[in-house]
Amino acid sequence: MADVPAECTIKVMCRFRPLNSSEVTRGDKYIPKFQGEDHVVVGSKPFQFDRVFQPNTTQEQVYNACAQKIVKDVLEGYNGTIFAYGQTSSGKTHTMEGNLHDTDGMGIIPRIVQDIFNYIYSMDENLEFHIKPFICVITLRVDKMVQCRHIIGFLSPQGCTERFVCSPEEVMDTIDEGKSNRHVAVTNMNEHSSRSHSIFQINVKQENTATEQKLSGKLYLVDLAGSEKVSKTGAEGAVLDEAKNINKSLSSLGNVISALAEGSGYIPYRDSKMTRILQDSLGGNCRTTIVICASPSAYNESETKSTLMFGQRAK
Ligand code: ADP
Ligand code: MG
Repeated sequence: MADVPAECTIKVMCRFRPLNSSEVTRGDKYIPKFQGEDHVVVGSKPFQFDRVFQPNTTQEQVYNACAQKIVKDVLEGYNGTIFAYGQTSSGKTHTMEGNLHDTDGMGIIPRIVQDIFNYIYSMDENLEFHIKPFICVITLRVDKMVQCRHIIGFLSPQGCTERFVCSPEEVMDTIDEGKSNRHVAVTNMNEHSSRSHSIFQINVKQENTATEQKLSGKLYLVDLAGSEKVSKTGAEGAVLDEAKNINKSLSSLGNVISALAEGSGYIPYRDSKMTRILQDSLGGNCRTTIVICASPSAYNESETKSTLMFGQRAK
């Protein structure tokens, strides 16, 4: 592992989406009051973050501020995690994935894939990719002596498949394919995606045969389950149990992140499955960015406030 990066902090960014058409139709009040680049007031309560993105912020601006530096560090051998946190429909998937096939609409994940390819192209060396949906793994190998090889693998209900890819576009097509496999695996995709965490993992392994230098970095990109309160969803039985589990894993994540932010000696990684998985990419010399996603509508004010409070705990 390389030396500790110069700044080794947890960054908390906050992104408000525009009012959606049903909020406009209902005549909802637009509540956030933005002040400068890092403050927002909601219901007379002020909140400060590393950055606050207003609804007109582009995907590219969000990527540059939230992810570009982490990608550079991962290519230099550090680990990192980027989370999107917020209630269902607040813009988490828009932020993490966006439109995979549109230059302007692309979210953080496709831009990272592109940046990694650009890096490899600029090095004129070789790489190997493995991707799996649910947990997606991209492995990249740089080796001047080996013939150029790009492999993408993904986990489908039938098992793990591998394929060769030569461009970011082929990675996007494979992500699409992985997602359509996931559609087959679950009955109600929308319901499922809001009640589960989606973790995309990128491993970058580089080996330079000339210098024998080896570098290994790992990045987790996490589209968290909707943070809305169980009581609001009217859930019962198994669905209620599942919702309680989600709420519990989000609060465990909050505990881990605030312990890291406080510099506490004890970090409760073992309290949830997700924090155990992410342990080697959270804390230590890892980079962590949380993108807090929120609706600007008065209708969602209490959820928005609790989302902003979650982000504030990480500061
Ligand atoms: P979540 O994943 O948090 O449930 P989504 O990312 O699916 O929410 O967003 C809900 C809807 O709002 C989608 O149709 C998405 O395209 C739209 N949306 C979210 N954020 C933005 C934004 N910043 N600008 C424009 N549309 C957005
Ligand atoms: Mg989503």
